[in-house]
Amino acid sequence: MKLGQKLFISHVAAIAVGVAVLGTALALVAPFNFNQSMQRAMGGPGPQAGAGKGMMMHGGEDTESDSDMMAGFAGEVQGYFRRAIYSALVIAGIAAVGVASVASWTISQRITRPVREMAQASHHIAEGHYEERLVSYDAADELGELTASFNQMAGRLAAAEQLRRQLIADVAHELKTPLASIKGYMEGLQDGVIEATPETFQLVHREAGRLQHLVDDLHQLAQAEAAQLRLNIQPCDAAELVRAAADFLRPQYADKGVGLAVELPDEPVRVRADFDRIRQVLLNVIGNALWYTPSGGSVTVRLTRQDGMAAFAVQDTGIGLAPEDVERVFERFYRVDRSRSRASGGSGIGLTIAKHIVEEHGGRIRAESAGHDQGSTFTFTLPVA
Ligand code: ADP
Repeated sequence: MKLGQKLFISHVAAIAVGVAVLGTALALVAPFNFNQSMQRAMGGPGPQAGAGKGMMMHGGEDTESDSDMMAGFAGEVQGYFRRAIYSALVIAGIAAVGVASVASWTISQRITRPVREMAQASHHIAEGHYEERLVSYDAADELGELTASFNQMAGRLAAAEQLRRQLIADVAHELKTPLASIKGYMEGLQDGVIEATPETFQLVHREAGRLQHLVDDLHQLAQAEAAQLRLNIQPCDAAELVRAAADFLRPQYADKGVGLAVELPDEPVRVRADFDRIRQVLLNVIGNALWYTPSGGSVTVRLTRQDGMAAFAVQDTGIGLAPEDVERVFERFYRVDRSRSRASGGSGIGLTIAKHIVEEHGGRIRAESAGHDQGSTFTFTLPVA
């Protein structure tokens, strides 16, 4: 049975029960009240009792027949009264059930309409129409709340679907270039257009390496987004983390001619961290600083303590970031300058993974920049051990 029918039947049943209770109560109370009123009207305790008293008082024949007449009259009036009451009750009952049925039908329809629309909309969404929304009801009741949460859920589903599509498009785009390159070299080799020199093989190898890098990044991103990074968090020396990452990249800094300075506090700072993952974050941020800073520039890695957290700041004198890019660099596949980033072998996933890693540690990561060519600073925090 449908919800509307159930509501309708329950309303009508409630009215019917009300009418039945009213009838029963009336049948029990009305005759008694009527008798009392009659007694008062006739000035005696009651037709039957009055007759008995009269007999005792006068003991005459006339008085007895008067009393019988009175009793007969009272019984007749009571009969009329009962019939009048019951017929009024039947008419009122029919009218009440009739009016209640109309009201109940209208109310049931009002209540079930949003529920019906919600059912239809969820079917639509299940079929892939993520743009489906319900007309929001102003009512500040549970149905209004349900409609609002339904629309919110539909919005989130639409956003997730949009991200999924975007992800597939981005992955396809990222795979296309190195694959086309490898295919081109192979065809050239087959046709004899390209010579089979060690340089050619190195080029093919580099493209395959790029593919490998992308697949590894995607694998890590998938793990990070599913919160499955399985961090091995232990107390570690924050200065050692900074030194490990900086020392690893120092030769590349020297090659490009970018200065690398490390500033550490005097007291040791111990953080609760997965050493390898945080080293990876530092390598990503310090590596980016090198890539986006021209020769002659400088990068400073600074470790400080801030409000019970350890702060790792990587400040460069490089190309900087426009205000609209400061937040977006943490989005997956977001690159300010695609061609420049592609040359680095980067796919715009590094900072997304870094953000996940830092946040899983209970820290925060942010980027700051005064604008183009003003350098940028990437700072992330970790809880102190
Ligand atoms: P990629 O591998 O492409 O560098 P990331 O996720 O590490 O990917 O960085 C995303 C984007 O953020 C980069 O493509 C670049 O545009 C911007 N970016 C990152 N670090 C810096 C920096 N130090 N200075 C300027 N831009 C940066």
